[in-house]
Amino acid sequence: MISETLKDGRIKHSVDGWTGYQNPNEPMTKTKWFKHGTEQWEVKSDSKSKPGVTNTYTVMKDNLNKFSCNCLGYRYQKKCKHITEILEKGKQKDMIIKYTTKKGKTTELSGVPEKETEKAMLITFTSNKNTIEKWLPKSQLKEIEKGVWEIPSWLGGPINYDLIVANNPNKSWKPRSWEKN
Ligand SMILES: [Zn+2]
Repeated sequence: MISETLKDGRIKHSVDGWTGYQNPNEPMTKTKWFKHGTEQWEVKSDSKSKPGVTNTYTVMKDNLNKFSCNCLGYRYQKKCKHITEILEKGKQKDMIIKYTTKKGKTTELSGVPEKETEKAMLITFTSNKNTIEKWLPKSQLKEIEKGVWEIPSWLGGPINYDLIVANNPNKSWKPRSWEKN
C-alpha cells in the first residue's frame, strides 16, 4: 500500500485498484475506499415507515457507468429515487459560485461539481480554459438561487487567486482582500 498526505491534511492510500481517503484525526478503519473507475454519492432520504428517521444510502457508479444503490427499492426493482436524484443533480452541472469581499466586490466563478462526500464537494473551476480542482466544505456553500451558490470570501478569494495564477504563471502579487482578521 502506498500512502501520502494531501495538502488538505487527508491521507490518500492506494492499493490494488482501490484508493482510500482517511481524514485527519480519524483512524485507518474510517478510511473511505473507492474502486478505481467508480464513483459514489451519499443520499439522505427521510424514512416513510419511521417518521423523523433519516436514512443514508450510497449510490454507486461502476466503471461501465452503471448506477446502483444499496436501498431495498433498488434491490427489487433495479431503480430507485436515489439514483434519479443523482442523475438530476448531474444534469444541473454548472454552478455559479460567488463571493463578496468586505469592500463589497462580488466575484463569480463557474464550477462543475465532480464528487461529493458527506461533508464536502469537489468542484472543478474553469477560467480561460485553465481548470483547478478544490474541495469545498458543504457547511460553507449556500445555495442562494438555483445553481447559484455563495461562499465566504476567505474561501473564494484563494480559489480566484489560484485561477489567476493558473492563467498567468508569472504573476507574483497576492491580493489581501480575503484574509481573515
Ligand atoms: Zn436507492
